[in-house]
Amino acid sequence: MSQQGTDQEQTGVYAVDDEGFIVDTEDTEERETAHRERGTSRPITVVGNPVLHRECKDVTEFDDELAQLIDDMFASQRTAEGVGLAANQIGVDLKVFVYDCMDDEGKRHVGHVINPVLVDLPAELRVLDESNEGCLSVPTAYAELARPDYAEVTGQDMKGNPIKVRGTGYFARCLQHETDHLYGFLYIDKLSKRDRKDALRQMEEGTPRYPVVPNE
Ligand SMILES: [Zn+2]
Repeated sequence: MSQQGTDQEQTGVYAVDDEGFIVDTEDTEERETAHRERGTSRPITVVGNPVLHRECKDVTEFDDELAQLIDDMFASQRTAEGVGLAANQIGVDLKVFVYDCMDDEGKRHVGHVINPVLVDLPAELRVLDESNEGCLSVPTAYAELARPDYAEVTGQDMKGNPIKVRGTGYFARCLQHETDHLYGFLYIDKLSKRDRKDALRQMEEGTPRYPVVPNE
C-alpha cells in the first residue's frame, strides 16, 4: 500500500490502494474514537436469539440512520472488547459489520462494510490456519477452527460506494467470521458436534464481562 495510492482517489469514505482495496490502516485511533464517541453502546445478542440465525436484510438506505448504527456498533464493540461486530449482534437486522482488528503483521485495521460478500478465492490462496476463535455472541467460549489465512470481501461503504477489503491472519479470520454472522451463521455452526457442545458448555459456565440481551 503505497502512500501515493493513499492520496489518490478519495471518492468514497476510504482511500484505496493501487489494487483497489480500501486503506483501513491509517488514522485508526482517531477514526475508531470518533465513531464510538458519537455512538451509544448496546447490549450484545447471544446464541439462540433468532436475529443471529437468519440472513440479515440488505442495506438500501445510505443515510444518517446508517451512520448512527455504525457509530453505535463501534461503541458496543469497544464496551465488549471485541475485534469485530455484526449488526445482528446488537439486534439490528441489516448487513453491516465493523472491525478493529490486528493482522498477522501487527497492523491495526479499522473500518466498516455494508452488504459484504466473501470472495471465493482459488485453492492456492487458501492456506488453512487453525487458530482459536471466539465470538461476543457465544460469551466466554473458544474453539479451534480452521479457516483460510487470507480473505477478501466486497461490499459498500456507508455512502454506498463499492469497496473491496482484504486481510491476512487474524484479520482474515475476522472478515470471514463477521460476514458469516450477516448470513445467519456463528462460528460454532462450523464446528464438529462435539466441539460445538463443548463451546456451549463453556458459555454456560462463564459470565460475560459486558451487557447481553437475555434470550426468552
Ligand atoms: Zn461473532
